[in-house]
Amino acid sequence: MSDLGDLQSLASSITAVTSPFRNYLNDLHEKYQSLNDGAIANYIPELELAKPEWFGICVVTNDGQIFEVGECDQLFTIQSISKAFIFGLALEDYGREYVNSKVSVEPTGEAFNSIVLDEATNRPYNPMVNAGAIATADLIKGKNGTERLKRVLAMFKRYTGRDHDINVPVFLSEKSTGNRNRAMTYLMLNFGMVSEKIDETLDLYFQQCSIMVNARDLAMLSATLANGGINPVTKERAIDERYVQDVVTVMLTCGMYDASGEWAYRIGMPAKSGVGGGIAAVAPGKLGIGTFSPLLDAKGNSVRGIKVCEDLSKDFGLHLFNVAQPEKNLQEWIEGGSVDDW
Ligand code: GLU
Repeated sequence: MSDLGDLQSLASSITAVTSPFRNYLNDLHEKYQSLNDGAIANYIPELELAKPEWFGICVVTNDGQIFEVGECDQLFTIQSISKAFIFGLALEDYGREYVNSKVSVEPTGEAFNSIVLDEATNRPYNPMVNAGAIATADLIKGKNGTERLKRVLAMFKRYTGRDHDINVPVFLSEKSTGNRNRAMTYLMLNFGMVSEKIDETLDLYFQQCSIMVNARDLAMLSATLANGGINPVTKERAIDERYVQDVVTVMLTCGMYDASGEWAYRIGMPAKSGVGGGIAAVAPGKLGIGTFSPLLDAKGNSVRGIKVCEDLSKDFGLHLFNVAQPEKNLQEWIEGGSVDDW
């Protein structure tokens, strides 16, 4: 490279290092690292192995810049965050009308694992609670369990740009302790909401919850939705453009367990959390956020993750219904690019 080229690349990486948005994220990380409220999920022993100090924040912009701070390589199980994306795949497999005949889109205000169906239609309330997620998993096409799981993993790869593994001990634990999920599945079978292949579908559901991801993957999943279904880095389409709106709407109304209303009110970004400690939040047309911190509040949402999303939403005006001038202009703050290698 010529001297001039060297100088130019040095100059651009210095701009990147000093990118105001990167500094902003560093400050956020520092601000909330010492927040130790909440508890690690312990309904199965494997999840208790997480360390309370783990904390990663990643933001991927629609133009493919990646900003990350903290533990963004640490793997954890995606858990309930998978539900949003499986809903998207079911919509691709069967279309809106049929999927909606098997699962409604009403928030419940009930715990995610409640055994409750809509009294009038016998449908589970929405694809983000366990009953609805299992009914949605039932719809994933494939000639057997292996093929269906392969399709699910291939879908996640389209979103994140990399291969994903199942955490087998988590899967086996979910399966051996999952009688509540089994009970609600039998109830749904009684009402014709799921097919007879109950064991295969429950395995698929437990496997989708056991997929290992990191905070960067969550940001990629979110950014892909924010970008109309195309991964902004690899440029691969992950989901039919028609269904992006369905997925993010249900995330907004039902994605944060029974704190979804408060989340929509205060933060106003479609998001989904999981008991592994992840949150994936979407700012449509702008960026995707992935946070990871396993300390959960009483509703099952990551305490630090909520704080991070709340600050980002407030400071940059990311609330969907915000019409006021935000305190910080997103474009100005991200100018300078990211230093993170893809
Ligand atoms: N695998 C969990 C279950 O079915 C989902 C946990 C979550 O909500 O993240 O109970």
